[in-house]
Amino acid sequence: MSASHHPSADWLLAYASGHMASAHALATAAHLSNCPHCQLQLSTLNELGGNLLEQLPPSAMSGDSWQKMLRRLEPGSDRAHSPATGNAANAINTGSTATASRSALPAPLQKLLPNGLPRKWTRLSGSVRQATLKQLPDGTLIALHHIRAGGKVPQHTHDGTEITLVLNGSFSDQHGLYQSSDFLVVDDSVEHTPTAVQNEDCLCLTVQSAPLRLTGPVGRWFNPLIRALY
Ligand SMILES: [Zn+2]
Repeated sequence: MSASHHPSADWLLAYASGHMASAHALATAAHLSNCPHCQLQLSTLNELGGNLLEQLPPSAMSGDSWQKMLRRLEPGSDRAHSPATGNAANAINTGSTATASRSALPAPLQKLLPNGLPRKWTRLSGSVRQATLKQLPDGTLIALHHIRAGGKVPQHTHDGTEITLVLNGSFSDQHGLYQSSDFLVVDDSVEHTPTAVQNEDCLCLTVQSAPLRLTGPVGRWFNPLIRALY
């Protein structure tokens, strides 16, 4: 299934130029690995960037930064996107055992998950679990969220930016339906209640710059717990 929600052109430009935080770049690369549409966009941006540099006088070029960026995008490098391999995420077993072969994950995620999906999950509610992959010094949290079929994340907003990449299954909120490989960026202007579809569990990669903040009636009680888990 091809993605319907993609990073914006500005977002891809930041990725292509190397001016993007590493956690954001990771999520972007994971999306790119299964999105021919964005692979084409990125290729065009790289071509444009190369042409622009060719037109600059030699003194204006800042060393070999562009070449360094291109090398990062080459297959086998940390930031590379792999060719589309079909909907590999479908092979992920999101059941209670939460195991998956390494090859079922988007290639850029495999370095963080050399043995497939993590075994340790924290239950956030009856239907939502979180597995922390990495917390960066600036507080950015890279995690997996698993929502059981039909399960709901309580109504919330965000104190910072949150990127969600759907790895398997799908969820909907007040703003749309998000399926495998869809890429979503939200901030404090968005309040929503993500709900997994009824017939399939949903697994997402999330990158959060701050803990989410519940806005419904239970928020008063649960926000301190969420901040403690972050
Ligand atoms: Zn895309």
